[in-house]
Amino acid sequence: MTAPIERFDQLDLQAPILAALAEIGYETPSPIQAACIPHLLAGHDILGEAQTGTGKTAAFALPALDRVDISKRNPQVLVLAPTRELAIQVSEAFQRYASKMPGFHVLPIYGGQSMVVQLRQLQRGAHVIVGTPGRVMDHIERKSLNLDGLSTLVLDEADEMLRMGFIDDVEWILEHTPKERQTALFSATMPDAIRRVAHRYLRDPKEVKIKAATATVSTIRQRFLQIAGVHKLDALTRILEVEDDFDAAIVFVRTKTATVELAEKLEARGYAAACLNGDMTQQLRERVIEQLKNKTLDIVVATDVAARGIDVPRVSHVINFDIPYDTEAYVHRIGRTGRAGRAGNAILFVAPRETHLLRQIERATRQPIELLKLPSREAVADKRVAAFRQQVAEVLESEDLSFFLDVIAGMEAQHDTEIHEIAAALAFLAQKDRPLQMPETGRPDIAQLASGKPEARPPRDAREAREPRENRGEILERRRDYAEGRLARYRIDVGREHMASPKDIVGAIANEAGIESRFIGQINLFEDYSTVELPSDLSNDTIQILRRARVRQQPLNLRLASPEEAARERGRPGPGGRGAPPKKPFRKEGGFDRPGGDFKSRKPKP
Ligand code: ADP
Ligand code: MG
Repeated sequence: MTAPIERFDQLDLQAPILAALAEIGYETPSPIQAACIPHLLAGHDILGEAQTGTGKTAAFALPALDRVDISKRNPQVLVLAPTRELAIQVSEAFQRYASKMPGFHVLPIYGGQSMVVQLRQLQRGAHVIVGTPGRVMDHIERKSLNLDGLSTLVLDEADEMLRMGFIDDVEWILEHTPKERQTALFSATMPDAIRRVAHRYLRDPKEVKIKAATATVSTIRQRFLQIAGVHKLDALTRILEVEDDFDAAIVFVRTKTATVELAEKLEARGYAAACLNGDMTQQLRERVIEQLKNKTLDIVVATDVAARGIDVPRVSHVINFDIPYDTEAYVHRIGRTGRAGRAGNAILFVAPRETHLLRQIERATRQPIELLKLPSREAVADKRVAAFRQQVAEVLESEDLSFFLDVIAGMEAQHDTEIHEIAAALAFLAQKDRPLQMPETGRPDIAQLASGKPEARPPRDAREAREPRENRGEILERRRDYAEGRLARYRIDVGREHMASPKDIVGAIANEAGIESRFIGQINLFEDYSTVELPSDLSNDTIQILRRARVRQQPLNLRLASPEEAARERGRPGPGGRGAPPKKPFRKEGGFDRPGGDFKSRKPKP
């Protein structure tokens, strides 16, 4: 590669995408983004290896968005993610990156979510689908997800999908998507099984591996705090309040917007804070640093780029409010403290899903990062009381209080109150603006929430992990059943024009005839009829019931599909339409026990 990419506008992305990034406040492409985006824009396949939290989502989402044709409302990008949370997270990221692309739609699909809702959303159309493998497979098989127009397929967190046992499903999906697609595979590690999948399904992929850097300063005390995003601000102010050797801090966040927001919030809480980011002129930035040096400011909230190389010896603390993408950034950040031979403090906030990133930093810097114990509310109150006493003692020693002694003596006489009661009232008044006690929130104290060693992995929804496996077995079994004649294709007289959905049809068949949904296979919707796979040996009673059963007020009039109708299934669900082939009387086929004449079709009402 040539010159390093430092700004997003150095990448060949469409203006609306750049505008969205500017609004979000991303300043610099992360290493994996800088390395992958040009290749993906050029149409290459990618095999990308980088730890979680390094910005892989944007690495594939931005070039994918760049290639989406908004005027076509069919899925053009499919992202497979191991869990429902990740599927939702990736969808939300797409939504944010596409905020300046009117009409753009992304749809997350995952197990455990209502099928009715999903089918309706799929029918409405989306440009990007983000799904868990089992559910995606299910929709491909039911033909509710049409991937003929797919141009990009992304396997996100491939090693995790392997670990969770989804790799066969992923391969099945790879085999059921257009061959000429672009494929990107991202993984935190590259076990052999993943490499094999990559070699098999990726075309001459560009391999990108982002390595972590090393070396930190040993005079810096490094600590971490596991804390969810919503509690970070409270945790920060609490730390600032109780750290004994606090003088000044640089607080690192990921975006320019976050620098502004956090600096404002800190100011509102009484801190002398300002932001420092790449949007500010050089002059402004220099002024902020000058103010930090001359103690006009105590806290600077900065992005990596803006704070690069800052040398202010009084900086006692570096707070990694947002965890950095890589070890190199971490090393640069904490190097802003412990300068000129002084001791420094580096505190790292780790959100629950970032704990392995912490380990990665520890491994790469070969230094342990200790657990920070966040002081409790009571500890903070004790500290404030101690400071208050100190102030009172100083005033008693150094001020001339004769005027005030007279005032108090007057109050004592007039109200007949004890002197210590008056003192307490005065103490109350004195602390009104900066209370000595921490407010009772009724919620658990963040000190409790933040304590304890982080878990290796966030807990998962057990059903999410299991469901796709069962589902896959079911799908494969249904395909086998159909191939071996245990399932047959039936025709019903309700279709799209009746506003019927596959969910309605499954519901009616399952409820009316008591057929479990796992015995209900593919459903294809046509204009004025549909076909559905059901056991080939349905009893006559069941068939009678299903002839009369209704969906959307329309009798199903179920009967075996004619060979022509079955033949149309080879292709995709066709338009059908009113000019569809005339409805033929039923001819006996498969395992029926009654002559075909009994199952003459009834004309659907117009
Ligand atoms: P990964 O997929 O590698 O785990 P994510 O894509 O989830 O990482 O990104 C982690 C965090 O970093 C997200 O909060 C995202 O908004 C943020 N992020 C990604 N790229 C950038 C960037 N270029 N500048 C600032 N923040 C970024
Ligand atoms: Mg990710």
